[in-house]
Amino acid sequence: MEKLIITAAVVGAAPTREQNPNVPYTPAEIAAEALQSWRAGAAAAHIHVRDPETGQPAFERHLFAEVVERIRAESDMLINLTTSGFNIQGPDIDGQRLMPLDLRPDLCSLDVGSLNFRSGRVFINPEAWADRAAREMRQAGVKPEIEAFDLGHIRQAKEMVKRELFAPPPFFQLCLGVPWGAEGTLDALLDMKRRLPSDCQWAAMAVGPTQLPVNTATILLGGHVRVGFEDNVYLSRGVPATCNADFVERIVGLARVLQREPASCAEARQILGIHQGM
Ligand code: MG
Repeated sequence: MEKLIITAAVVGAAPTREQNPNVPYTPAEIAAEALQSWRAGAAAAHIHVRDPETGQPAFERHLFAEVVERIRAESDMLINLTTSGFNIQGPDIDGQRLMPLDLRPDLCSLDVGSLNFRSGRVFINPEAWADRAAREMRQAGVKPEIEAFDLGHIRQAKEMVKRELFAPPPFFQLCLGVPWGAEGTLDALLDMKRRLPSDCQWAAMAVGPTQLPVNTATILLGGHVRVGFEDNVYLSRGVPATCNADFVERIVGLARVLQREPASCAEARQILGIHQGM
């Protein structure tokens, strides 16, 4: 089976130090978590940034730039910057959400469809946003990681594949267990996986206690895996992870037991069709 790309989603927008004191907030802490995950076997880091003082979700360019610079100084890790754009205000929010493209990451997340979050927030991703983001990512030579929280998102992305908005192969991240998207169950994973277009690459993530079973099934099904504080702050019930690398180490061990070798950064770029320095 193809080698396994492990992505560490080291902070996300939701987890707090009240939930787990090891959640990184500053750019230096976020980069250090990514690099420690790389040393443990992760080929990619999915990056959000936080206000270094308050820990609130942030989207300032200089915060992203510092994280990218620190990771690049020490590794060839694939850098995947979020474009989910929490807490953005003002005109041209879509344009602001695409600012991370300027930092020349390997990948950016691309949320094609909208979703109700349990917090009461609606994650708004109209069709016009999805099309514009795909076009600008292709133009910038940045690989989109197509985030699908439900079946309709896959349906929409497949139509975008037909319109050749993505450089081949399209890369999907199946996002499970997030209220109120698809459930974090093996049934939901299989249902989503079955509907993916042929000739794509895919990964899956799942939140909280659904993370480990979905990770395990994904390794067996030939997908790639995402772990980290963005999705789960506990290593097991009641046991907070000390760092993101805890999750990475566990997945590396599990993958080897299941006869799937983790991909190096160069192998991950080859699998995803990413040409460094594009
Ligand atoms: Mg994210």
